[in-house]
Amino acid sequence: MAAPGEAAPVSSGVEEKMAQKDDGRKAVCLLVLGMAGSGKTTFVQRLTAHLHALQSPPYLINLDPAVHEVPFPANIDIRDTVNYKEVMKQYGLGPNGAIVTSLNLFATRFDQVMHFIEKKQHNHRLVLLDTPGQIEVFTWSASGSIITEALASAFPCVVLYVMDTSRCVSPVTFMSNMLYACSILYKTKLPFIVVMNKTDIIEESFAVEWMTDFEAFQDALNQERSYVSNLTRSMSLVLDQFYSNLRVVGVSSVTGSGLDQLLVKVQEAADEYDRDYRPEYERLRKQLMEAESGKQREQLERLSKDLGAVRMTPASLAEKANVGGPSDLIMTRGIRDSDDDEAAADSDTDDVDHSKAEESKEKDAFGNFLRERRQVVEVRNRKCGLPQAP
Ligand code: GDP
Ligand code: MG
Repeated sequence: MAAPGEAAPVSSGVEEKMAQKDDGRKAVCLLVLGMAGSGKTTFVQRLTAHLHALQSPPYLINLDPAVHEVPFPANIDIRDTVNYKEVMKQYGLGPNGAIVTSLNLFATRFDQVMHFIEKKQHNHRLVLLDTPGQIEVFTWSASGSIITEALASAFPCVVLYVMDTSRCVSPVTFMSNMLYACSILYKTKLPFIVVMNKTDIIEESFAVEWMTDFEAFQDALNQERSYVSNLTRSMSLVLDQFYSNLRVVGVSSVTGSGLDQLLVKVQEAADEYDRDYRPEYERLRKQLMEAESGKQREQLERLSKDLGAVRMTPASLAEKANVGGPSDLIMTRGIRDSDDDEAAADSDTDDVDHSKAEESKEKDAFGNFLRERRQVVEVRNRKCGLPQAP
């Protein structure tokens, strides 16, 4: 593998490779993660434009329920399914709580998203998934794990960790960001690429040097005089191994520079998935299919049962079953591919057994949480003479 940041030779064949889709390989899912403001959404937008220019348009999924505008033509948009503002309103949640709740609600229907990707993957070499602004919402939530594991057990999957290079000029900030990247690598257990974004502001070479030359990083640290710098010094020793196996590429989502190098690294990472990760995920998939008690399945079922409360059945049936919960204002009935309106017809969620869901509701933390929040809001609205949420 190339050393971190080593400019990979950009194969003159990037264009042809991206254009020929029907080589029997599965579409590669790129999970775009990174701190708020690192440039994930802008990066997805720019990469999409680049891929269009290479005659290889990606399949696009927006998983950020709170984004105001999605600047790329999303095929699937969480906002079409979950109404984040209504989640805030009806459950009296703040922005972060509402984002987590919205993602949980969406995760319970991720089987539909998988169905769409399966169906459309022959037309796309890459599937890009943009994630919520705050990284921990995705990386440290049950729904983030459900989505990641579902994707990785069916498709080659690579994490793109987007970093704001211009904010890493301080060695302590750089180290914090790298520690975070390291934690995500271990959490997601997927091939990993660090995308040093915003190189139009500052070239990534200083950061790459810090990763490859221990002395250079120590020199930079010597300028800092705080206990944090001592800690950072020790941590940098620990991260040495992490750096040696890391793929790094500098890009600018504003100018589009570095994207061809990125695509080369993506191909390498997808090969790594096939070689080293696929067997493990195939085992996981088999386990999920065979064992009703698989951990991920349990998690998914728990969320699904909480959503027994959601009207996945036609509204009239749900009313008969006296199922309370997120109203149609929060969740629409099926996930919609913007290019494909068969979604509603294909939806298999009508089969959900609500009597079972009702039985298990008492045990389910997320369901209880939703119900309690709703009650709090109802009481508050009653006191203030406000109309009740539907
Ligand atoms: P997200 O929260 O990670 O999705 O970040 P956004 O894509 O919303 O970007 C946050 C800010 O960074 C916006 O003001 C973008 O215009 C800016 N930005 C994103 N990528 C770049 C880049 O490559 N160069 C520069 N100069 N600004 C960028
Ligand atoms: Mg964003």
